[in-house]
Amino acid sequence: MENVDVLIAGGGLVGASLAIALDGSGLRVALAEAAPPKVDLQPSYDERNLALARATVNALEALGVWAHCGVRATPIRKIHVSRQGEFGVVRLDAARHGVDAFGATLPARELGNGLLARLDDCRTLQRLTRTKLTAIAHADGAIAATLATADGERRLRTRLLIGADGTNSFVRSALGIESESIDYAQTAFVATVTPERAIDCAYERFTATGPVALLPLTQSRAGVVLTVPTADATRVAALDDAGFIALLHERFGWRLGKLVRPGRRVSYPLHRLYARRIVAPRAVLVGNAAQTLHPIGAQGFNLGLRDALTLAEMLVDHGGDPGAPALLTEYARRRHEDRDGTAAASDALARWTANESPPLKFLRSVGLLALDRIAPLQAALVRRGMGFRGRVPRLALSKLS
Ligand SMILES: Cc1cc2nc3c(=O)[nH]c(=O)nc-3n(C[C@H](O)[C@H](O)[C@H](O)COP(=O)(O)OP(=O)(O)OC[C@H]3O[C@@H](n4cnc5c(N)ncnc54)[C@H](O)[C@@H]3O)c2cc1C
Repeated sequence: MENVDVLIAGGGLVGASLAIALDGSGLRVALAEAAPPKVDLQPSYDERNLALARATVNALEALGVWAHCGVRATPIRKIHVSRQGEFGVVRLDAARHGVDAFGATLPARELGNGLLARLDDCRTLQRLTRTKLTAIAHADGAIAATLATADGERRLRTRLLIGADGTNSFVRSALGIESESIDYAQTAFVATVTPERAIDCAYERFTATGPVALLPLTQSRAGVVLTVPTADATRVAALDDAGFIALLHERFGWRLGKLVRPGRRVSYPLHRLYARRIVAPRAVLVGNAAQTLHPIGAQGFNLGLRDALTLAEMLVDHGGDPGAPALLTEYARRRHEDRDGTAAASDALARWTANESPPLKFLRSVGLLALDRIAPLQAALVRRGMGFRGRVPRLALSKLS
């Protein structure tokens, strides 16, 4: 049976980034991805328009991924947060925080293209595409992994198994790691539109029926994330373009003038998942396999990348057995604050912004006003929003921080 030091199961946005970060580290690393290496066949590289935090952009630059996809990104220089029918509003301007941008928007498909191109340049990584992890067993200080490939079954022994295999993680269930999950009973519709007035700001608007976000994209387009109650999702999916635009105006308003040319609509039922543990003997969970968040705060990939960067940094610094128990315990300890804090903030935002009780409406408006007016409060929010939370991985602190 072939031996490797690290087997990453799942080459989505997080697993591929981790594999790139470990390439050339001296560790024998294999990356097993169930899908073929084509951007339109890979479920992680789809229609989502991602808001990437500044720390994420820094890291993608340092990893050599940005060189392949950065031209398709749009800087986020201003952010506007409001609640329909209430007086509070938060306006953030990067220039007032001493940075040129809070981060950037980029379609997941373009980031996927960048990751695939960068994976092609990897020197030591063993890439196993169309390869699905189907069974694991602990054996003599390692994990024996069974992989289903186009050419039949293959077996590998690894000193560390990393589950980067998404929300329905096989690795998580095979390790017997329990998770808390919540069905938000909301569905997000993702599409692009072209606003009549130029969009130079990332908008997040909370409404009683769920949030709506409009993100600036290239070619004067805006990326829409419209969240509706799942009970209403079938009706919204069946709307024609004019009906969808009318719903969007009803929820978002007219601050960008008429919204036209809606692109293809894709929907995502929204769930929260939080693994009770992120390490097990000779195994670690990262990205959506460890925690899947409501997209309201645009934190899922940003947080998952920080998992990957922290793990890569620790494996490289440690140098010895990548599955050493003390190393994995320290990894879980280091990720605790960021993981817990970011997941709790996304969850609170998803619930808090939809609640219609009058005292809460008032408090919410006051809270938004306070964030708009009180500089230190805003500075703390901005720093966290840019992905600088807790102990920041070195790769995220590159020249652009
Ligand atoms: C509508 C929406 C908007 C979002 N917007 C943002 C945003 O603005 N900013 C942000 O940071 N995040 C955002 N997110 C979250 C972000 O998309 C996810 O957090 C991110 O895609 C997770 O990546 P991942 O690699 O952990 O998991 P996944 O993308 O699920 O990838 C898992 C990979 O593992 C593979 N796989 C699964 N099982 C196996 C197996 N047994 N063997 C081998 N391979 C396997 C799959 O084929 C897949 O490629 C958004 C999410 C949604 C739904």
